[in-house]
Amino acid sequence: MIIGLTGGIGSGKSEVSRRFQALGIEVVDADEASRELVKAGSPALTAIAAHFGDRLIKGDGSLDRAQLRTIIFNDPAAKTWLENLLHPLIRTHIIQQLNASNSPYTILASPLLLETSQYELVDRVLVVDTTEDLQLARASARDSNKREQISAIMKTQLPRSERCARADDIILNDGDLAGLDRQVAQLHTSYLAVAQQHD
Ligand code: ADP
Repeated sequence: MIIGLTGGIGSGKSEVSRRFQALGIEVVDADEASRELVKAGSPALTAIAAHFGDRLIKGDGSLDRAQLRTIIFNDPAAKTWLENLLHPLIRTHIIQQLNASNSPYTILASPLLLETSQYELVDRVLVVDTTEDLQLARASARDSNKREQISAIMKTQLPRSERCARADDIILNDGDLAGLDRQVAQLHTSYLAVAQQHD
């Protein structure tokens, strides 16, 4: 059984992932997969440099992510081109990792679970939800980004109500981290029960 974990920026996906991992559950991380695919010397990075120019490659051969983000933020066609290149590769990479998982159930953590065809890979959708004010406060403290930048990213993501409407399960992360522990432990128990029925 595969549980898709998603939520807006700063909602608490990483905190939730860590808690499932601590309970022995394998987490496949779509962000990590996308970083892995464009590592120095990879075919995808070569294709990106051929399209946007070598200025996107830093001195050590790695991708200048900040510059790429700026380009695609301001150019929808560039964003589409990049997504058409990366999404199928990320999907294949994710499927391989999901197949290799050995825990009773597996989490696929992805900020874009519901915005891409990745949701087709999961049996249930788990959304981490919090208020937009808390998203802004937590994400800007974590990334030392300006609130305006976080706010701009939030505008490109699904609205909170739409994301929650598509959830099978919701973790409400508007309290302390102990509250997160409790909610994850509860879900873990019910997922183990469902996973046993799956077998
Ligand atoms: P995401 O992965 O969804 O972007 P994170 O899990 O990184 O979000 O959480 C954003 C920031 O907020 C992190 O610094 C995290 O430690 C902090 N955080 C998340 N949930 C809570 C909470 N309930 N109480 C306090 N800090 C939290």
